[in-house]
Amino acid sequence: MEDAQAGSADRIERRLLRQISRLNKQRGLIEPGDKVMVAISGGKDSWGMLHLLRAYQRKLPFEFSMVAVNLDQGHPGFPVSTIRDHLVQQGFEHHLVTVDTHRVVKEHTPEGKAFCSLCSRLRRGILYRTATDLGATKIALGHHREDVLETFLLNFVYAGQLKAMPCKLRSDSGEHTVIRPLATCAEADLAALATARGYPIVPCDLCGSQENLRRKKMKALISEFELEDSRIPSNMFAALGNIKPSHLWDEELGTVARGGESADVEPRAARSSSPPAHAGLVRLRTTPARDESC
Ligand code: SF4
Repeated sequence: MEDAQAGSADRIERRLLRQISRLNKQRGLIEPGDKVMVAISGGKDSWGMLHLLRAYQRKLPFEFSMVAVNLDQGHPGFPVSTIRDHLVQQGFEHHLVTVDTHRVVKEHTPEGKAFCSLCSRLRRGILYRTATDLGATKIALGHHREDVLETFLLNFVYAGQLKAMPCKLRSDSGEHTVIRPLATCAEADLAALATARGYPIVPCDLCGSQENLRRKKMKALISEFELEDSRIPSNMFAALGNIKPSHLWDEELGTVARGGESADVEPRAARSSSPPAHAGLVRLRTTPARDESC
């Protein structure tokens, strides 16, 4: 029985490694000589990313280095020793940072509002500074396929934007590059791997933030689709890389896609006297949600 479980975990690990490798070949997330700062929250995804990147490092024909970084934000009961012990036992080069952003966030967030917006901005700033201090050339975050899809749906439904999460992104200052090596990996595979390998999972509710109900709704929607047909999440993900700008309503993109023509080839509905497509849009939320949470 144990052999069967180990065999299944090995299969899952091989599948995840193939996906990481394919994405890396296509998008050049990790390049020769990189020093990758791997952000470790203590959740299943970040542990999976760290172990998978080490396995990937051993297979690659070129060299890159890694340093695991955990940020203790002062959340009550945050078990930093659990994280440290695992990193030490497993022989990972690591760096632990402690900044009590929890107190700042609580002081500056109005009663009844979610902490995530300020919390994630502070965390991002600290991670960027740490990357600079450590001389890291890339910052790896553990977002997976479902995170990308949920973010896309959140922006589509609540923010009136077609926008997901890129697998490689330069920071606004141009100083840092964020990569998401797990962006094409299914969350279920990462969960199964974490269970099988016994990663020491840190609970994700220590910050005391209100549950993100909208994100939960999007997650439930994707699960519902998946129950109907297990291929649907992959199809949705494929759609993000299979865009027909000429058949969307972004004037600038559509014009470029149509080779400079604009008015003549507009869809019939847009040629009528009806108001432009964006008129009357109520932006329920104007900023994307995923980058505002863990
Ligand atoms: S869910 Fe994440 S981003 Fe939101 S408050 Fe908690 S730790 Fe911060």
